[in-house]
Amino acid sequence: MSTDAFNVKVFGCRGSYPKPGQDTVYFGGNTTCYAVKIRNCIIIFDAGTGIIDYGQELLKEHQTDKKTIIANLFLTHIHHDHIEGFPFFAPAYLYSTTINIYGACTSTCSLVEMLSRSMLPPYFPVEFVETHAIKNVQELSDSDTVLLDAATGTPKGLYHGSQHLSCDPDDIQVKVLRGYAHPKGGIYIYAVIWRGKKFVFATDTEGYIGSDQRLVQFCQGADLLVHDAQFTCATYADPKLPKQGWGHSTVNMAVEVAQKAGVKKLILTHHDPNDTDEIVRSKQTDAQKLFSAVECAREGTVYTL
Ligand SMILES: [Zn+2]
Ligand SMILES: [Zn+2]
Repeated sequence: MSTDAFNVKVFGCRGSYPKPGQDTVYFGGNTTCYAVKIRNCIIIFDAGTGIIDYGQELLKEHQTDKKTIIANLFLTHIHHDHIEGFPFFAPAYLYSTTINIYGACTSTCSLVEMLSRSMLPPYFPVEFVETHAIKNVQELSDSDTVLLDAATGTPKGLYHGSQHLSCDPDDIQVKVLRGYAHPKGGIYIYAVIWRGKKFVFATDTEGYIGSDQRLVQFCQGADLLVHDAQFTCATYADPKLPKQGWGHSTVNMAVEVAQKAGVKKLILTHHDPNDTDEIVRSKQTDAQKLFSAVECAREGTVYTL
C-alpha cells in the first residue's frame, strides 16, 4: 500500500441499533463507524459499535510500532447508534492516547456535557472524564474547516466560514455542512479533502423533492460519497408505517444526490436493522440499475481514493 494512500474503511454501517446474527453476517451488524487513514493521520466518523473493533486494531498497531495513538473523531450527531461504541474504544483507556473530538452542541448543552451524560454511573461504571486518554473536545459550526497535519495526525487550525484558509498542499481539510433533515437537532455532514481527492460522509439525512441542493453542492465532484439509504421507496412510503420525517433516505434519494453532484462512487449506508443480507443485496441491485458506481457498505471494506 502506498504511503500516499487516502483510505476509507468501513467498521460499522448498520442503522439504529446493532444487529448481529446469521442474517447480517455479510454486510455486518455494527452501528456507524468509518475510518479515514491518510499517512499518519487517523480520522474517524462516528463512534457506533464499529469503533470497538477499530480500537482493537489501533491497539495492535500501537503495540507493534510503539507510536502513540492520535485519533480525530468527528461526530455527525450523538444519537445512541453513533456514540455507543465509545465507552469500549480501547485506546481511550491509554494515558498516551490523544482523542480530538469534534461535533455539535445544542442551545442548552455543550458537546462535552452530552458526551459526559452518555457515560455515567449507574448506566456505565466509567465516566467520560475518567477515561485516561487526553480528550480535546471542539464544537464546530456550519461551514467550518478543520485542518489536520497528514504527517503527524494532529490538528493545525480551525477556520470559520469564509475565513481565508492558510494551509500547506499536504494539509488535510475536513469541512462541515450542517444538515437539518434529521430529528431533532439535525446532523453534521463532513468532507475530507486531500491532494485533490474528496470523500463525503452523509449519514442520517433525509432527501428533499429535487434533492438536498446544499448537499449536492457540498458533494460536487467527490470521489467517494457515503450516503444514508436506510429505506427502499416502498418501505419509506409504506402507508401502514410511513417513514417520512424519520431523517433517513431512500436508495433513490442517495442516487439522485450522487448523480447531480457528479460523484464518482456512491456507498449506501445505515442499513435498516430489519434488513437481512438478502434484502440489502437486493437494494444494491436496484441501486445499480439507477447508477453504475454504487454499492452497499459492508464492514471491513477499504476504499482507496
Ligand atoms: Zn443513526
Ligand atoms: Zn440519528
